[in-house]
Amino acid sequence: MTPLLHTKSLSVAFETPDGVVHAVQDVNLTIQAGTTVGLVGESGSGKSTLGRAILRLLPENAKVTGSVFFDGKDLAALSAKAMRDLRGRNIAMIFQDPMTRLDPLMRIRDQFIETIRAHDPTVEAKEAGQRALKVLADVRVPSDRMGMYPHELSGGMRQRIMIAMCLLFNPALLIADEPTTALDVILEAQILELLQAIMGRYNMAVLLITHNLGLVAEFADRVAVMYAGHIAEEGATVPLFREPFHPYTQGLLRSVIDLDTEALYSIPGSPPTLLGATVGCPFYPRCEKRMDVCKTVYPEPRPVGEDRRAVACYLY
Ligand code: ATP
Ligand code: MG
Repeated sequence: MTPLLHTKSLSVAFETPDGVVHAVQDVNLTIQAGTTVGLVGESGSGKSTLGRAILRLLPENAKVTGSVFFDGKDLAALSAKAMRDLRGRNIAMIFQDPMTRLDPLMRIRDQFIETIRAHDPTVEAKEAGQRALKVLADVRVPSDRMGMYPHELSGGMRQRIMIAMCLLFNPALLIADEPTTALDVILEAQILELLQAIMGRYNMAVLLITHNLGLVAEFADRVAVMYAGHIAEEGATVPLFREPFHPYTQGLLRSVIDLDTEALYSIPGSPPTLLGATVGCPFYPRCEKRMDVCKTVYPEPRPVGEDRRAVACYLY
C-alpha cells in the first residue's frame, strides 16, 4: 500500500553567519493514511523544522535535500502555486499559538470566508458561512462565536477554531506542531480527544509534534524519537514505550517522573550543537552504552525486535 506520506533521506541545513546548522538529517519517515504519528525529542532536535520541510514552509536560508512523497507524488516536482494549493487543501498545519495565524482585526466568520475564498474565489459569502458553521460544529464551537474577534475567545476556543479552519478542505494529513503546549492540561486532553474524534470522521492522519510523552502514549499509533536532527528510533507506540531500544529513548522515557521513587531522572549532558558536519552517533557523548564504532560512523537505522522497529544504534 502506498503510504500517505513518506520522506526519503530528508535533510535540512540552515546557512547562518556562524556556519551551517544541520537541523534535519537523512530522515525517513512514513505516515499511513488515517493514523497518528507522534514526533518527540528534546528542544532543538529538529521536530518543527521537519514538519515545515514537509510543507516547504522554511525560510530562505534553509537548504533542503532528499524527497517528500505525498500520495506517491514527489512534492519537489510541484510548482510554487501547486504547493500553495496543496497546503491547506491536502496537508494542513496548526501551531502552538493560534493567535499568530488569526487576524486580530477580523471576526471569526470573515476569517473563514477569506480562507475558503483563497482556495476557491467562486464561493459566495453565504455558502462560505455555512461551510464554516459545519466545521465549527464538528469541533464543538458554538455558532455565536462566529461574530466574535479572536481576543474575545479563550485559548482553547481559538485552537478549536484553527482546527476547524484546517478541516474546511478535508485534508488527508494534519501536521500539529505543539498544538496544546500553551493550554492547561485539561484543555490539552480535550483538544486531543477532539482531534481523535475528527480524525475518524474526516479520515485524516496526524503528525503530532510534542514534548509530552504522555500525550503520545495516549494518542499516537506510532512514535518517532528525534535526536540532533536524526530519527533515533521509530515504531508502534505500545511496544516502544514498553521496551525502548535506543539508549536515548530509554533516557527520555526515564526522564518522566517515576511515581515509585519520586526521583526525577535527566539524561546527563546536553544535546550537541548542530553547527557543522557531525561524524558518528550524535548521542555518543551522553550514552551509557557507547562503543568505539559509535564515535566515527553514524549507525544506519535497522529493523529490530518482533515489531521490526527502526533503531539507529550499534547495540542491535
Ligand atoms: P522545540 O522543541 O524547542 O520546538 P524543535 O525540535 O522543534 O525544538 P527546531 O525548531 O526544528 O527544533 O530547530 C532545530 C535546530 O535548527 C535548532 O538548532 C535551531 O536553532 C535551528 N534553526 C531553526 N530554524 C532556524 C533558522 N531559521 N535559521 C537557523 N537555524 C535554525
Ligand atoms: Mg518546535
